[in-house]
Amino acid sequence: MIIPTIDYIEPVFRPPSEANSFILQVTNGCSWNKCTFCEMYTAPQKKFRPTKDDQVLADIRSTASNWPGVRKVFLADGDAMALSYRRLEQILIWLNEHFPNLQRVSSYCLPRNLKNKSIEELQSLNRLKLDLLYVGAESGDDLVLDRVQKGETRESTIAALEKIKTAGLRSSVMILNGLGGTRYWRQHAMNSAALVNAAQPDFLATLVVSFPMGDQRLKQHFPEFQLPDQQQLFEEVKLFLETTELQDTVFRSDHASNYLILKGRLGKDKETMLEQINFAIQRPDAAGLRQEWQRGL
Ligand code: SF4
Repeated sequence: MIIPTIDYIEPVFRPPSEANSFILQVTNGCSWNKCTFCEMYTAPQKKFRPTKDDQVLADIRSTASNWPGVRKVFLADGDAMALSYRRLEQILIWLNEHFPNLQRVSSYCLPRNLKNKSIEELQSLNRLKLDLLYVGAESGDDLVLDRVQKGETRESTIAALEKIKTAGLRSSVMILNGLGGTRYWRQHAMNSAALVNAAQPDFLATLVVSFPMGDQRLKQHFPEFQLPDQQQLFEEVKLFLETTELQDTVFRSDHASNYLILKGRLGKDKETMLEQINFAIQRPDAAGLRQEWQRGL
């Protein structure tokens, strides 16, 4: 675990797999910040703005003086890819100069922010060790995406994922279990599977939708939303996994929000994971599920 000496604008979020990365806050907040299920950057101090170059360089220098052996860097906050190609290139050059053991740089990525970057530019960033982009697809269903104000469609997300793959970077896709509510769960599951089938990402994760501050924002545009119960969430993940046709994707359902922890490689572990879900549906008392207090929301 790297404990940086730099001052972050809190709160700062990162994927679970970036626990050992140096978190470099090259932007504050999220450039979109309209998704009605997302409370990550709603605090007043999290209004979106890029971090000034001199601040980014100062944060890199101070971390390099304490932890010169940094191998992994995560560019925060919600969408560092909102920065222009030139700024990203400069930041990656600084990271490579200051961390001789640097292996990979990663970031969250909104599909729309790849539209203004060419394949050649992404390849150039990849040569500077930008390697993994986390894409919060949330759903592959356009009605659900519209209801939650995601500002993306299945096709726009697939296009971004294809661009990432063509440029030689890896992608990690997140799908939100429960986002279709009790009414649209089937189409949410099946169209989310269609999205990942088309994109064949390197990594795939499911998280459970949750509203620590209440669902009033979501219901403004999605009044028919009802949060599925635990059994319904399992049925949805089951339908999603059944519909996937993935060749070699690492699947994780181990975020703190998940009741049932699943890990494996899709497709080879698909049947094993479906058996685990079936067992959780039939014997929730014996399936070793996370209790509410363990979900860390
Ligand atoms: S794009 Fe991501 S970080 Fe931004 S509001 Fe939507 S879910 Fe939240």
